[in-house]
Amino acid sequence: MPTKPTTRRVAFVFPIYNEEANIDLLHKTVDEVTAPLAERYDFSFLYVDDGSRDGSLAKLTELAERDQRVTVIELSRNFGHQMAVTAGLDLVDADAVIIMDSDLQDPPRVALELLEKWEEGYDVVYAQRRSRQDSAFKKLTAGAFYWSLRKMAAVDIPKNTGDFRLIDRKVVDELRKYRERDRFLRGLVSYIGFKQTAVLFDRDKRHAGVTGYPLRKMLRFAADGILGFSTTPLRMITRMGYLISLLSFLGVLYVVGVKLFAPETAVPGWAFITIAMFFLGGIQIIMLGVLGSYIGRTYSQVQNRPLYGVASVRTRPGDPVAVPE
Ligand code: UDP
Ligand code: MG
Repeated sequence: MPTKPTTRRVAFVFPIYNEEANIDLLHKTVDEVTAPLAERYDFSFLYVDDGSRDGSLAKLTELAERDQRVTVIELSRNFGHQMAVTAGLDLVDADAVIIMDSDLQDPPRVALELLEKWEEGYDVVYAQRRSRQDSAFKKLTAGAFYWSLRKMAAVDIPKNTGDFRLIDRKVVDELRKYRERDRFLRGLVSYIGFKQTAVLFDRDKRHAGVTGYPLRKMLRFAADGILGFSTTPLRMITRMGYLISLLSFLGVLYVVGVKLFAPETAVPGWAFITIAMFFLGGIQIIMLGVLGSYIGRTYSQVQNRPLYGVASVRTRPGDPVAVPE
């Protein structure tokens, strides 16, 4: 059946790392959920196998043989969740892309709500967790992470969101220009802008298998989020230096006070050593902070991000609105 020219193409991107026991159910569920809309949209499913060590790839190959709409990308080794999603976004070809975890923690039916918002004209619709069924430890660390990220980051990164979201082709095109190696996609999507909105949902438990995010990877990911979008940790060095220098100044006041008002309690030599220590320590840390400021600038230059993204250009009234390449 030839597709009508008006049919919009919607692609799902699924990062897969050892999800053997989830793939069949996942595909069955997205297939069922999207079936009623098959008239309106041309759906496709892109599975990115991120170097799985179980039978995931075989399962995916089987799936691609059964369902013509399935594409499988096999990465050469495990590159991590963010890289798997990036590979999917680089290779996908659709008018909108829905990124979803493959363990059924992101309920496929929510994808329909994302599509509705897209139809209303939003370019990014992120699914925001109203509740989540993770361990108390995960909830606590995630809470602390989002709190500090929002305090420090230069852009407004919505809390309680993962990578589960719909993004319009325009934003995918923009995102492809960001080639930094330590990637925090949800931050980049906020950074890029365009019309964004949220849809609330309740996050389920992982259906089967174990998390691909042990504590070590989680900490690294948190560091990518904070270091990628903030130079606050570097600036903290300078503040620390000022604080220590202030201590040496207070020390001077104290010593002068003792000399003037209670000379009999003064211990010889003590004052000079202590004050010199705080003073030199402070100066050294301030100088580290100065280095930090230059390193911070070098870092953002090296990230080599595009300087801006253009959404549209308007010239005289009545002129067509062009979206430049
Ligand atoms: N994932 C991946 N590569 C990895 C780790 C995870 O592609 O190195 C995928 C995984 O298959 C899942 C998604 O990323 O679809 C989220 O991972 P997971 O559910 O393990 O993380 P959690 O929900 O526990 O934070
Ligand atoms: Mg999960």
